[in-house]
Amino acid sequence: MRIEELSVDERVKRIIRERGIEELYPPQAKALKSGVLEGKNLVLAIPTASGKTLVSEIVMVNKLLHEGGKAIYLVPLKALAEEKYREFKAWEVLGLRVAATTGDYDSTDEWLGKYDIIVATAEKFDSLLRHGSSWIRDVKLVVADEVHLIGSYDRGATLEMILSHMLDKAQILALSATVGNAEELAEWLNAELVVSDWRPVELRKGVFSHGQLFWEDGKIDRYPSSWDSLVVDAIKKGKQALVFVNTRRSAEKEAVSLASKIYRLLTKPEQRKLEELTESLESNPTNNRLREALKKGVAFHHAGLGRSERTVIEDAFREGLIKVITATPTLSAGINLPAFRVIIRDTKRYSNFGWVDIPVLEVQQMMGRAGRPKYDKRGEAIIVAKTEDPKKLMERYVFGKPEKLFSMLSNESAFRGQILALITNFSIGNFRELIEFLERTFYFHQRSDTSQLEWKAKEIVYFLIENEFIDLDLNDHFMPLLFGRRTSQLYIDPLTAKKFRDAFPKLEKNPNPFGIFQLIASTPDMGTLNARRKEMEDYLDLAYEMEEKLYVNIPYWEDYTFQSFINEVKTAKILLDWINEVPETRIYDAYNIDPGDLYRILELADWLMYSLIELYKLFEPKEEVLAYLRNLHLRLRHGVREELLELVRLPNIGRKRARALYNAGFRTQEDIIRAKVSELLAVEGIGMKVIEGLFRYFGVELPGASKKGADERNPKKRRGTLDDFLR
Ligand code: ADP
Repeated sequence: MRIEELSVDERVKRIIRERGIEELYPPQAKALKSGVLEGKNLVLAIPTASGKTLVSEIVMVNKLLHEGGKAIYLVPLKALAEEKYREFKAWEVLGLRVAATTGDYDSTDEWLGKYDIIVATAEKFDSLLRHGSSWIRDVKLVVADEVHLIGSYDRGATLEMILSHMLDKAQILALSATVGNAEELAEWLNAELVVSDWRPVELRKGVFSHGQLFWEDGKIDRYPSSWDSLVVDAIKKGKQALVFVNTRRSAEKEAVSLASKIYRLLTKPEQRKLEELTESLESNPTNNRLREALKKGVAFHHAGLGRSERTVIEDAFREGLIKVITATPTLSAGINLPAFRVIIRDTKRYSNFGWVDIPVLEVQQMMGRAGRPKYDKRGEAIIVAKTEDPKKLMERYVFGKPEKLFSMLSNESAFRGQILALITNFSIGNFRELIEFLERTFYFHQRSDTSQLEWKAKEIVYFLIENEFIDLDLNDHFMPLLFGRRTSQLYIDPLTAKKFRDAFPKLEKNPNPFGIFQLIASTPDMGTLNARRKEMEDYLDLAYEMEEKLYVNIPYWEDYTFQSFINEVKTAKILLDWINEVPETRIYDAYNIDPGDLYRILELADWLMYSLIELYKLFEPKEEVLAYLRNLHLRLRHGVREELLELVRLPNIGRKRARALYNAGFRTQEDIIRAKVSELLAVEGIGMKVIEGLFRYFGVELPGASKKGADERNPKKRRGTLDDFLR
């Protein structure tokens, strides 16, 4: 179907054609003829890269141009929100405004009212629903990207509840990978269903076993016995490869090992560029391992990498400079990074229940990354059999159907928070209404029997009453209490809030970082970090040393909470090092964690610290304790001792630069305003760029800008201006 033939606004067609797209892909045409343009709900289950985004753009923009209102585009990851935001910006030429929102769960974000297309993570949108932002009633369309994540244990419940809330209020467009029960999903959403396995690039799948490559069509190719010959072969053909493995460490190990074979295949200019790229990385243990592979054209990609490194790698791979990426499956979820050949080294992974098979849905997502549209006529996805029977792998992953999705609503922690929100933020007035609402969910649609869910809901309601999140009046009506309402808005597990409240009396008597960090680390909202066996004794010693600072008793080693307590001590100690300015590299080394881990811990701790303060305010707070907590929060946010808090508020001044300035005698903002440029330049890490930023912040003229004004505007007149220095 040609773009011209589409029955949508001419302006929409014009912009798509300006992108060089004249013809719709077959599943796109089918989707757009399904009634979605007339307002019907749609579930679109097609492989990655077959153009789901374009369908959603056409539906969103056409609707907004004709009906006004807002469209929400839900994504599972922050990085994806940024990516989509950049893509959708192109529609602003039609007068539509695009925004993205991800962090800060305690806000109504009224500013979003001015925007037409809002990209948000599911969690963020859920929190906006809870805050009752006034613009929500203008939402006319919800696009749920990667809707198969409804089946994810951690995240599924959020997505399911959002859709349950919005079902009769807005049109729903759900974009999904191919799943076993797309019909069921469509029935629940009262939606049309378009399923297809059409791909813009042909995909050829096979299983590799000890030198033999068995293709799905029965053909067999022969290679040297080790699977890495498949990688080398792809690079020799001038193509790229993605290798999926099951752990971070394997990704790193394979990257280094492949690098030694790929290096010889690089051109001189490529080697030079890779060398430059390698040098540009900040030095830390993870990056140092990365460097070893990167300079030879290979990179690993996993959740432990820092954000900027991940972007660097993704960009260099797209450019063709990096030839191979070894990755954990997180890469296959979302990021658009195709390669000619995809190799799946592992089909098993270690879980709480021991070794388990990786779900077909996930392996098929990884295989779907094979083939670069526009570059490759065909992509190849190859599963490696080690001890497994290649025939069985072929049956399961190549010819097999992906699993069905199951509702994860009954996941205890998620359900607790969702029930509280229903009562405190969505005016569910009694138990009957609660059950009625639950009947709108996918859980109910799938099982038609809510007895188990009702039983669980009842237990949670009792927990909420007992702990004063809500109350019950004489007619058995729910009465939301302030503690409950705030907990729900803060987007934390009620169990976390209860832990905080229970600790307040002790905390008030003895406020201290270690006690507070252990408390934060002990909540279900804090991701757990595992202490290794050989570290356990050290952390136990530390706990005893710091016993008086803790708000809990140290458990006995036979106690079932012992292991998690030790993990909490480890996390608390990391946070303590962080606010005492221990350099990041030393933290990675000492605790055996990657930059990505530290980043996540800090992000969570920041949020929990904020929540702790917000909840403390509800219980007759003592001014001095509140001030202490706020101070600690700032230290946590910036990773500094108290004396640097003034300096880290300045633009581009992080913990390192602030410390260098302080040690050089610049202890206040006033000191910096008075300083000569040459003096500042002598401080480690302070260059012209930083100084320019500071001057701008203080409202002082930059060289080349008009002379008039700076000194008049800013009474804090400087000696030694930039001009002076440059002269
Ligand atoms: P998905 O969201 O299904 O993973 P995308 O929407 O990101 O896939 O599409 C992948 C690529 O295909 C994008 O670069 C997009 O511009 C391009 N594309 C989409 N539809 C068409 C089309 N009809 N013709 C040519 N290219 C297209």
